[in-house]
Amino acid sequence: MKYDGKFGKYGGVFVPELLIPAIEELEEAFYKFKNDEKFMKDLKFYLNEFAGRPTGLYYAENLSKELGCKIYLKREDMLHTGAHKINNAIGQGLLAKYMGKTNLIAETGAGQHGIATAVIGAKLGLNVKIFMGSKDVERQKMNVFRMQLSGAEVVPVDIGSQTLKDSINEAFRYWISNLDTTHYLIGTTMGPHPYPNMVKFFQSIIGTEAKEQILNLEGKLPDTVIACVGGGSNSIGIFSGFLDDENVDLIGVEAGGEGIDTSKNGATLTKGTDGILHGSLSIVLQNNDGQIQETSSVSAGLDYPGVGPEHAYLKTNGRAQYVPITNKEALEAFELLCKTEGIIPALESSHAIAYAIKYAKKEENKGKIIIVNLSGRGDKDMGIIAKELGVEV
Ligand SMILES: *Cc1c(COP(=O)(O)O)cnc(C)c1O
Repeated sequence: MKYDGKFGKYGGVFVPELLIPAIEELEEAFYKFKNDEKFMKDLKFYLNEFAGRPTGLYYAENLSKELGCKIYLKREDMLHTGAHKINNAIGQGLLAKYMGKTNLIAETGAGQHGIATAVIGAKLGLNVKIFMGSKDVERQKMNVFRMQLSGAEVVPVDIGSQTLKDSINEAFRYWISNLDTTHYLIGTTMGPHPYPNMVKFFQSIIGTEAKEQILNLEGKLPDTVIACVGGGSNSIGIFSGFLDDENVDLIGVEAGGEGIDTSKNGATLTKGTDGILHGSLSIVLQNNDGQIQETSSVSAGLDYPGVGPEHAYLKTNGRAQYVPITNKEALEAFELLCKTEGIIPALESSHAIAYAIKYAKKEENKGKIIIVNLSGRGDKDMGIIAKELGVEV
């Protein structure tokens, strides 16, 4: 391989020997095509015309007045299929096509990444197979239907806990047997090298745009950038625009679930320890025997016991800070954004809003310029929200 894919001690390639040729082929293709003019022109075309970029950097005036800070929202919620996941699905879908692959596979928990993969497969004429835990298939019938409408085959996974972590294992198994035809489209910054670097590259458009936009609007950099962290892709995407600007504070917000002291949370960076999960060394939620813990959050997209290796690195070297937000705090923030701005955020993004609110209320942060990455829209969460608020719909 050309690079080791390390972020400090984290990252790397921890996969079965049989997968190494595929990983090498992918690494070579990625570093070749990211410098290829035609590829980058195609990528820009699909990001703009299919997904709807650039997204706005929206000054949330009402919320800002209420909190005494200047809060800007990066509007990834305005994209096709409702979230930032489409940026990466377009990038990897196109890369697969340039590599001569005919099939895409992906795994999905709540279904959002499955939908993004299914639609780009339809657009680019690639066959799509989505692995999904059978419990998730049952819980997310409408999203399964959406994937099927775009021509994807949804494969229920019956092993283990029948949720996301098992469908990832199943996708790797399938990939090993179908390397010639198939690209495995991983949806977040996890996995073996080159995935963490590749997903960051495809999501870095968020940070590139946000930086240019804030400089136009304010004539200076923000004080703080806040984003929610599941696997870590929307956050690394926006952070990437500001990593070298040391005066900009970067804050990742994790799912604190029912509370950080309970077992029901997904706060990997707050509570996890070093471990290998799904192909790389990072920080993971595990018990004393190294068994991966089940996570639990009101937002399915943050419900993952691992996190991308670059976040483990940014946490340990202090460049970024990671904080938990509980289900309750996220729901309150959700309601506040709906009421003050008329914007219905995804529950994942509501975690970032919730921390921005907490942060803005502190005396020492008054007047600061804060960018919050609004990773997705809340339409997909209406059922859960209504239930949480005790409303019959
Ligand atoms: C999937 C998802 C996330 C979490 O994934 P990351 O890779 O951490 O970005 C966050 N927000 C939304 C709206 C999502 O759909």
